[in-house]
This record gives sequence, structure tokens and C-alpha cells, in this order.
Amino acid sequence: MRPPAPLRVALEVPDTEAEGPGRRYAVWVQGCPLRCPGCCNPDLLPFRGGRPVAPADLAARVLATPDIEGVTLLGGEPFAQAEGLAVVAEQVRAAGRSVMVFTGFTLEALRARPEAARLLAATDLLVDGPYDARRPDPARRWVGSTNQRTLALTDRYDPRHPSFFAPREVELRLVGGRLVVNGWPAPLDRA
Ligand code: SF4
Repeated sequence: MRPPAPLRVALEVPDTEAEGPGRRYAVWVQGCPLRCPGCCNPDLLPFRGGRPVAPADLAARVLATPDIEGVTLLGGEPFAQAEGLAVVAEQVRAAGRSVMVFTGFTLEALRARPEAARLLAATDLLVDGPYDARRPDPARRWVGSTNQRTLALTDRYDPRHPSFFAPREVELRLVGGRLVVNGWPAPLDRA
């Protein structure tokens, strides 16, 4: 089988508590075919940019990070790079850690796309649907707008659990000398 093409990755944050349950390795991929109203990080829309990352290398970095519960994949649009991210997600799951994915597509739309099947099969938690800045969600953690759903695709998490509800938390981190704000609908990255 041919190896998957390199991923285009905009940003990796190896240890955050603002992008899903527990401490997580967060990966923002570069490129999105959607244009959600009020997308607050247009820098992640073009498919050019970011840096090329081999899926196996990304998986190795995630698994070498101690004390994290799993990986969170955000964008951009993760399902626009589903083949390579499926490799990452499968390896993370095989090591007993969890996979959370944020997508602008609905689950129904993804299930109609054969190329999404592998990544969906390796996903524990899916936040789906286009972000809508006119409908901010003040109650659920990690979710941008009220139209988006938090869907458990395995029995690892229960989105009805109280830990999934709280006012939005924002986390400031220095990553490679850059100030990164996590916990907003998209990362704000300041040199
Ligand atoms: S909010 Fe996310 S899914 Fe929507 S256009 Fe922006 S990057 Fe794409």
C-alpha cells in the first residue's frame, strides 16, 4: 500500500486542556474548502501554507508526549486531509488514547463520503457542522456555535456529562516562541 501524502499542518500544541476532555495534543491542519460565516481564522483556509508533516511522524510525536489523554484534530478542515489523519488517529487509538475531531461538515455529509470513513472509524468524539459566529454557544465547552453537535462515535465519552458544560475557557501558551490562544473557535497565533 502506498504511504499517505504528507499532511499540511498549521500548528501543533502538545499539551492543552482547552481543546477537549483532559490534557490533549492539538493539531490544526492547514486548508478548508468551507466558508463558515464569521470564520475567525482565515489564515487556515488556504490549502497552501502550513508545513508538510508525515502522518507517522505526527503520530510518533503524539504518542511520545507524556500524560496526555489523546489527540484533537482541528482546522482548517481535518476531513480535507482524512487519509493522512486516519493514519494518525488509528495509531493514537491503538495506543489506548482518544481521538477528537472538529469538522465543518455534518456527520451525515461525512458518511456520504467514502474517503471520510477511515477517519470517522478512528474518532471517539466529533464536533460537527459549520461554525456560525452569529450563534455563539455559551454553555458547552470546546464548541463554537449552538448549531454544532458534540457526537460520541464510541462509548469512550458521554457528551451529556457535566464536564462537557462550562463557560468557555481560554488558555495562553508560548509555543516555539509564539503566543497561542487555545479554546477559542480557532487558534489565535501571535508572533
Ligand atoms: S470555521 Fe472551520 S470549517 Fe468553517 S470555514 Fe473556518 S476553518 Fe473551515
